[in-house]
Amino acid sequence: MLIDNHQRKINYLRLAVTDRCNLRCNYCMPESGINFAKKYKLLSIDELYRLSKTLVEQGITKIRITGGEPFVRKDLMVLLRKLSALPKLEDIRITTNATLIGQHIPELKELGIKNINLSLDAITPETFKKVTRRDQFETVYGNLIKLIQEDFNVKVNFIALDGQNTEDMIPILEDLTRHYPVSVRFLEEMPFNGGSKNFQTIKWNHKAIYNYIASQYPNIEKLSSEKTSTSVNYRIEGFEGNFGIIPSFTRNFCGSCNRLRITATGDVITCLYASANRNIRDILRAENSEENIKNEILKAVGSRAKDGFEAEDRNKNYYENSMTSIGG
Ligand code: SAM
Ligand code: SF4
Repeated sequence: MLIDNHQRKINYLRLAVTDRCNLRCNYCMPESGINFAKKYKLLSIDELYRLSKTLVEQGITKIRITGGEPFVRKDLMVLLRKLSALPKLEDIRITTNATLIGQHIPELKELGIKNINLSLDAITPETFKKVTRRDQFETVYGNLIKLIQEDFNVKVNFIALDGQNTEDMIPILEDLTRHYPVSVRFLEEMPFNGGSKNFQTIKWNHKAIYNYIASQYPNIEKLSSEKTSTSVNYRIEGFEGNFGIIPSFTRNFCGSCNRLRITATGDVITCLYASANRNIRDILRAENSEENIKNEILKAVGSRAKDGFEAEDRNKNYYENSMTSIGG
């Protein structure tokens, strides 16, 4: 079992399978993209699998596949097939922009992968294009509806972006959660955009998001959530689905954090706001990798910052990072 230096159990791995993406969300990276990693630095499917297997032996029970956009990786399904055969891995989840997931829906279902987080920061093609710099709203919306119809447990991630998409917040609740059993989670924007902009405060923090929604709906009920949940969840009376708010910038959930991140190039990251001070790629490519990886992971987990603020203090250039390379 992995226990960190603050006595938190670490059983949840967020595994980035690529830093590439076919969208250019403006809160995530500049229009020209970022300095993407050289191909040889990206972990192969076999390396991602061996690493996951080792970490599952160390106590990881849940893996979220993320990126970049996981489905730009043509061999992603090979990894998912191998991971689904690991007996001690209880749960595989995917975070995706849903542009390319459509053709894989039947196989994902067969593999028992039920939990999909789908990033959608707009409910009109115009806002979608403004935010993502690509014209793919219809594809994403179509795939979202398909996933719901196929009984996937879908959570929509919507980043509240001042001056860009907040007028879509109520319409997306009306469009999705009124009629469908989905959760729409509103996230605070974080300054991980590849250096496009740095900020110390945000207008749309969790309180502003809640107050805005509450001003439109008088009957909101707070739902109970798991201790390790990063979202505070609510139900609007008469709605089929629910909504959540994730204070990703305000960071008041660190006390129960159970996560470990590994980037597509093998950096080990113990907090979103921390710098990567360990890389396991070379270890994974050398002899006797299993024991050596276990030791590196133990060292990383044993020296975690107490919370995102302590991590940020140790990492002055954190805002130059992009979520596409950290693995959101
Ligand atoms: N491409 C996939 C997607 O967009 O779902 C997975 C990778 S993306 C980096 C993972 C999550 O990070 C997405 O939900 C995205 O909205 C979120 N994200 C990216 N940049 C962010 C930022 N600056 N602040 C808050 N969330 C961000
Ligand atoms: Fe791509 Fe996801 Fe970043 Fe958008 S948030 S640019 S979809 S990696």
